[in-house]
Amino acid sequence: MRPTGKLHLGNYMGALANWVKLQDDYECYFFIADLHALTTDYADTSQITPNALEVALDFLGGGLDPSRSTIFVQSHVTQHFELPLLLGMITPLGWLERVPSYKEMQENLAHKDLTMYGFLGYPVLMASDILLYQPKYVPVGQDQQAHVELTREIARRFNNFYPRPKAQNVGDILRAVHPLCVLPEPDVLLTPSPKLPGTDGRKMSKSYGNTILMTDPEPEVRKKLKTMVTDPARIRRTDPGDPDKCPVGDLHKVFSTPETIAKVYEGCRSAGIGCIECKSWAADALVQVLEPIQDRRASYSESQAKEILAEGSRRAGVRAEQTMVEVRAAMRMLR
Ligand code: SF4
Repeated sequence: MRPTGKLHLGNYMGALANWVKLQDDYECYFFIADLHALTTDYADTSQITPNALEVALDFLGGGLDPSRSTIFVQSHVTQHFELPLLLGMITPLGWLERVPSYKEMQENLAHKDLTMYGFLGYPVLMASDILLYQPKYVPVGQDQQAHVELTREIARRFNNFYPRPKAQNVGDILRAVHPLCVLPEPDVLLTPSPKLPGTDGRKMSKSYGNTILMTDPEPEVRKKLKTMVTDPARIRRTDPGDPDKCPVGDLHKVFSTPETIAKVYEGCRSAGIGCIECKSWAADALVQVLEPIQDRRASYSESQAKEILAEGSRRAGVRAEQTMVEVRAAMRMLR
């Protein structure tokens, strides 16, 4: 997750909530991608570190558990600098230029000059972030699948150029898990990312200024909901509407109970309820989700969060170095 500020409900439902569940079944690595933030925010880096701390607290509040998962800051693990450089040597330029988000982001962030080497190369950084941990799966939503596919292609190319040396000293466990190649191609673990609109009806996104934050207190949540756009067909209170054409309806589908959702459909389509009432039900549901998250977040101090990141970065560094030992050996760049 990039440290662009406090996380919002879109981040929570699209990623964090899935990650929390994965902790039950997998050994997980989660990191704050501060090097990725540099690819677009290189001109003003003043907010990256404070934002990273906010993201760490949101991770913990959301339910990532440092006793089960490794939670760290990307730039604190120096192997995240080393592997992208090596993989960059074998990644054809054309592969990077055709990444769909490359042009998309340039258009969306037209006010920033993104004609930078670092920005073009961010998929190599992303591939390295993944491959450093020799993972079986990468949990992503549908829109991120292309990045994992590119990661697989880069890994394949690496393994073709640099097969695992026959005699090496890398430990039996790793060899047993990944016997054939140094950088196994990871699979996508498709995680649900429900449609979550912001207050203006567009996709919830910090750049649109339409977010509901994981840290928003109850009055703020209610205030934001009050201004949220609704089905445009409901001009007057007596006009029937359709929750399937209303962003508030979308929120209900994600957060409300089946009973409330049934009441929303019935009341909206018959004009039996007003939008103000309907929005207050949606706010109730959001507050119910957010309260335990905010309580858990408040139970961590900033210094505790920093300690957790330091320990996570240490652990991640140990695991990443195991991979780098193999990478350097395969490339015959032994230290
Ligand atoms: S009643 Fe609810 S679902 Fe229907 S238009 Fe109003 S806010 Fe949307």
